[in-house]
Amino acid sequence: MDLHQIDSALEAYQQTLGTSDKARLEFFRGLWALQQASLTRLVERGGEGLPSTALLRECQEGRVPLLLLAPAVIDADELVVMLESCAAWVAANAGLAATSAEALKACDWRALVAKSDLALAGRDPGSWIEETEREAAFAQTASGQSAPFGIVLACALRPQLEAVALAAHDGLTQAASADEAAHGRPRALRCPVCGGSAAAGYVGPVPSRDGSGRMLYCALCGCSWEFERIRCACCGTHNQGKLHYFHIEGDSAHRLHLCDECGTYLRTTFVTELAMPFSFEVEDVVMARLDKLAHEERFSPQRKH
Ligand SMILES: [Zn+2]
Ligand SMILES: [Zn+2]
Repeated sequence: MDLHQIDSALEAYQQTLGTSDKARLEFFRGLWALQQASLTRLVERGGEGLPSTALLRECQEGRVPLLLLAPAVIDADELVVMLESCAAWVAANAGLAATSAEALKACDWRALVAKSDLALAGRDPGSWIEETEREAAFAQTASGQSAPFGIVLACALRPQLEAVALAAHDGLTQAASADEAAHGRPRALRCPVCGGSAAAGYVGPVPSRDGSGRMLYCALCGCSWEFERIRCACCGTHNQGKLHYFHIEGDSAHRLHLCDECGTYLRTTFVTELAMPFSFEVEDVVMARLDKLAHEERFSPQRKH
């Protein structure tokens, strides 16, 4: 996460986006600022050491997420601070029903963290979020209130995962490129750091070579990794006839990469057509409108390959 890059992208989008998109971006800007501050505190406290080359090779060769082999040690106090501040921000700014906002504010985050399995959070963060969300919702059942606990949990945990992703980034990129050069094996479908699935992708500059390639982005830990240009990021098919891009007329920078083989799609930014500073965090929010598009039949896939 790079708050300067985020702000450059936000400034550029002020010219082109409508009021509701701008309001959503402002909401997320508040959460990103909290996450950036948390990440800075974690790095200042000593942060994550660089993983060894042997460990990264093991991850790459076995297609095992780094956290499964070398779990992150979660800082419980920092996590509680983030849960409280993210919950307060979401309660005040997400436009929730009053009862939901109250449920977020009333949640005893420290007790929830104390009760939860933090070793699981460091090893398999997606599962920890699911389990803890169930626990938080269960605690609220008596009062009949429901609230977006999952969003708060994911936001609060991300800086701790991102600290690992940052420390491992260069090594993982080199290990993946070396593996491809030596064995020509397909790239990883899941996030090489935390095992999450891709939330979005871009077509544009890549680390391994000159010219255009494709990168995928994990919203859980902030990692991005290189991926084949013509391949489904969900099922892994290379079947060119089953893969299509389509987009809203007049906005060719944002497209859905659709796979007929498994019926999923990935929101994808074409960086050269964006013509403004790029941030995966910002694009992830801006492209939410494409989710609606994916379900509207009047749009037929636009063949690009
Ligand atoms: Zn990840
Ligand atoms: Zn597929």
